Amino acid sequence: MKKIPADYRPDERTLAGRVILITGASDGIGRATAELAAQCGATLVLLGRDANKLNAVADSIINRGAEGAAPTVVEPRLHAMDFEAATWEEYLALAHALADEFGRLDGLVHMAGMLGERSPLLHYDAATWQRVLTVNLTAPFLLTRACLGLLGQSQDASVVFTSSGVGRKGHAHWGAYAVSKFGLEGLSQVLAEETRTNTHIRANALNPGAVRTAMRLQAYPAEDRDRLPTPEQIAPAFIWLLGPDSGEVTGESFDAQ
Ligand code: NDP
Repeated sequence: MKKIPADYRPDERTLAGRVILITGASDGIGRATAELAAQCGATLVLLGRDANKLNAVADSIINRGAEGAAPTVVEPRLHAMDFEAATWEEYLALAHALADEFGRLDGLVHMAGMLGERSPLLHYDAATWQRVLTVNLTAPFLLTRACLGLLGQSQDASVVFTSSGVGRKGHAHWGAYAVSKFGLEGLSQVLAEETRTNTHIRANALNPGAVRTAMRLQAYPAEDRDRLPTPEQIAPAFIWLLGPDSGEVTGESFDAQ
């Protein structure tokens, strides 16, 4: 599996002028990636299901900018949407709103995800299976499909699918979560092949590895969290794939660690 350069450090110009949509931006790795992308000059559209949490992320981004840590910070746009319940019309409405305001999309990070339950297939709850596949796999497909025209208007559009180790090698008791991540790897490759020629759209999958977040705690409640990297340590890998430093790379699967 390919690795992101371990010493990669973006600067305040890395994403200048780029309009980037990040799902799952209200918490964990998505939040850290949003905060770093803002410091790197991106104009952000932050998507999450909880408007209050999104507002808190936006406040943090704006405050850091005001404190002078990132002078080029642009106030992010916020879009509350629950992938479990969202209709195709809502995805289209989001894409139309982006078209009206920006006319293009330069980056799309599919970060939102849910764990579901850790149990053997024999006991796996059917309703949970549906929910996990809807949030982790169908939502990224629908959002990508709705935004493809906008991505096509960019000179360098990067779509990043957030994968997992269990999306590359099956492991017992990871159920729908693992299957959804295998699906995302496939979706990324299909999109990359369809856009490889005659477009400026790139698509890649990135496995963050074990990271100190709420989801990791849910999966491994007894583990020593202090030994895990923070979301802030992983965020540069996403910026690398979003920006010019990854060149024309497409159709690849990367590990952040
Ligand atoms: P978190 O649980 O911290 O964050 C998950 C994000 O997804 C939150 O913003 C959450 O919103 C959002 N989300 C969940 N359900 C929905 C929904 N129905 N509709 C819209 N948004 C939703 O997780 P991580 O930061 O750990 O995970 C980020 C990504 O990284 C995921 O795709 C995960 O699978 C992947 N990953 C994580 C690893 C880790 O060790 N942490 C390892 C490998 C992969 P809200 O704030 O409202 O809950």
